[in-house]
Order: sequence, then C-alpha cells, then structure tokens
Amino acid sequence: MSENFTTKILETSFAKHDLNNPLSMPIYSTAAYEFATAEEMEAAFIGKSAFHTYTRISNPTVEYFEQRIKQVSGAMAVTALSSGMAAIANVFMSLAYQGANIVTTSHLFGNTFSILQFTLANFGVEVRFCDLLDISDVEKNIDENTCLVFTEVITNPHLEVVDLKSLSALTAKKLVPLVVDTTVVPWTVFKARDFGANIEVVSSTKYISGGATSIGGLVLDHGNFDWRRSKRLDAKKFGQMAFQAKLRGEVFRNFGACMSPETAYHQILGLETMELRFDRAASTGLELAQWIEALPEINKVHHTSLPGNSFYTISAAQFGKIGTAMFTFELSDQAACFAFMNKLKLVRRATNLFDNKSLIIHPLSTIYGTFSPEMKEKMGVPDTLLRFSTGLEEPEDLKSDILQALR
Ligand SMILES: *Cc1c(COP(=O)(O)O)cnc(C)c1O
Repeated sequence: MSENFTTKILETSFAKHDLNNPLSMPIYSTAAYEFATAEEMEAAFIGKSAFHTYTRISNPTVEYFEQRIKQVSGAMAVTALSSGMAAIANVFMSLAYQGANIVTTSHLFGNTFSILQFTLANFGVEVRFCDLLDISDVEKNIDENTCLVFTEVITNPHLEVVDLKSLSALTAKKLVPLVVDTTVVPWTVFKARDFGANIEVVSSTKYISGGATSIGGLVLDHGNFDWRRSKRLDAKKFGQMAFQAKLRGEVFRNFGACMSPETAYHQILGLETMELRFDRAASTGLELAQWIEALPEINKVHHTSLPGNSFYTISAAQFGKIGTAMFTFELSDQAACFAFMNKLKLVRRATNLFDNKSLIIHPLSTIYGTFSPEMKEKMGVPDTLLRFSTGLEEPEDLKSDILQALR
C-alpha cells in the first residue's frame, strides 16, 4: 500500500464484498440486521462471528470510515462516534472510576474543560489542572490513582504546544495512559503515536468532515500501552485489547453515542480531499498571519508555525512546516474586536474550525460566555483575542476583507 495519505484513503477496500459492486460505500441506513438461523444470530451476538447485529454497536458504512482512519493513522483500533465530545466522554468513562484523578491543564476546549470540571466531579473523579508545559509540575500531580493524563496537541484557543516526547516519557515511566486530542493537527503532518500518545481523540467535525458537513468524533487506540496496572480494565483477560474490550464491549454501547451511517458517508468523502484542503488552508493561514503581524492596528498574532512564536521550535519538531490552519490575533479591546467582526464581508462570524469558508470568533464572549468571572480568569483567554480559522478562499480576497474591516 502507498505511504501517501490520499492514495491510502482511496485504495482502502471494503471489509466485505457488496453484491452491487458500488464504487462508493453505500449508506447502510438500517437499524438492525437479519440472520438466517438462530445459531448464526447467537454467534454474531457473542462475538464469534463478525456480522453486524445492531447499528448502535456497528454498521457497514461506519465501519468502512473507521477502516480508512485506521489505514492513515496507524492505529490498532478505531471507533467512530456521534461527536468529538462523545469520543472524549467515552474515553474518560472507560478509564475513570470513583476515587480516580485525571491530570491535565485548564487550557482546553470549552466543553472538555466543562466535562472535567463539572460533569465528572459528580461521579467522584478528581481533576488536577496543572501546567503541562512544566513536566515537573505534571510529575508532582500524578499518583497511584491517576487514571490518565490528558492534553490537546495545540491548545485551543491558547495555542500552546506541549512537548509530547517529554510528556509521554513521564507517563510511560509512571504507567499512566496519555490521551491526546489531535483535532487541530491532521495526520498528514503529524502522527501522535510517534510521540508516545496511547489513546487519541479527534473531533472529525473539523478537518475530516469536508467543509463542516456533519458532527463526528473518533477514538484511536494505538495498542502501545500496558494495561496491567489499570484499576479499571481487565488486562489479564484481554491483554493489549483491554481498553477496546471496555470501550467497544461496554461503555460505547451503553452510552449509545454512535456515529450515524449518513454522517459516516459524508466523512468518508471528506477524508478523500482532506490533504488537499489542509495544505491550501494551512498555507493561506500562515501567509495571513505573517501579513497581519505587520499591520499597525494589530497588537499580537499567535500562530505556532510563525517564526518568533514561543512554540515555533517544538511545533516544527512535532508537526513540520505548518501544523494547523488556525491562528489568533489581538486588537485593543473587546469593542474593537466586535467592530472589526461586524464589518467583515467574506469572513464568516461562526464557531467551528476548518470549514471551507474562513471563520472568525471572539472566544471569551462566546465559547466561554456563560462561564463565571472566576472560571473565565482560570481559562486565561483575554477579551482582546480573536480566533481565525482559515478556509479555502483566495488569500488576496481575505486580505482585502480584513483590511476594509480594520480601516
Ligand atoms: C471541536 C472540538 C472538540 C469537540 O468536538 P465536537 O465534534 O464539536 O463535539 C473537542 N476538542 C477540540 C480541540 C475541538 O476543536
């Protein structure tokens, strides 16, 4: 098989032969599957055969999407879910237990912060927010009840880049699984497993969906963690597959946050053009960031692949020339940000990342808008900050729009 991302996607074959020889994987819009005999039905239900039984558990269209992701990510096992948050929640629910703690940072996507801070606390799971940029601080927070360490690969919207090799060296030494959210950096430029991640979560709503067509999430198990020390998983019985057994055999079924076959179809198509779309959006994004930096109205520009950015070296080591198509910049205050946003004509005022259209958002008043003043303080997002997600428009057109809105 080719090593090229797009070729690999296109040449991934269906798991089973389809009688009509379709060139595209059909949308298997069915809830259940019929069996010829009770014996065959029993075999499928107890996992002795690979037939689908019920779409909440597995579905041919969704399975093909998972298969493609497996090919290009190198993961041992892939599970597609109804959203990125469902992927994150399923991983936490598979690994956490009453009395466990999760070590992470408060610089996280808003809902991820919220599930950790509010939802899990009700179930007796402690969350330890620390500075993941300081490995000794992480080490101090890990103890025998740490069930996982969690980080985003580039924090959103803080745009910090954790040194994954140092962090994973620590988690491997401590025998704690490292869970990484890689939503904002695609596999075409970065493989989390090469940097020691054990479980990877992705919001496929973003780069993968192919222009914001649908909401989806993924859990990737890299098969590189020894689960024998886990207080929650049955490593004796399942060995390397212990996390899969817990996730696919229990938590994923019980929470029911499966990906629909219609969404899988959209995202299968999205994957085919992801590399092309990313390359275009990422190069436009870096060009814009460089250009914006020179404008007198702009206070600061944050792009992890911009020379001079404090994460430039680690970002280049982990992601190569350009890691993401997202950047942020700062105007004088919230009023200036709002006035600028309101004058934009081409750039859309919308949340989400990596649509084909360029999007802008003022994170503090929206994503963190309902947080208390103390929580806002904890999140550390200034009111001067705007987040820009670069789309596929011609760079010169984006520059004219930005200039007319600034002046
Ligand atoms: C969007 C996003 C999520 C949540 O994904 P949904 O598909 O919206 O549920 C999680 N993490 C990051 C970094 C994101 O950008």
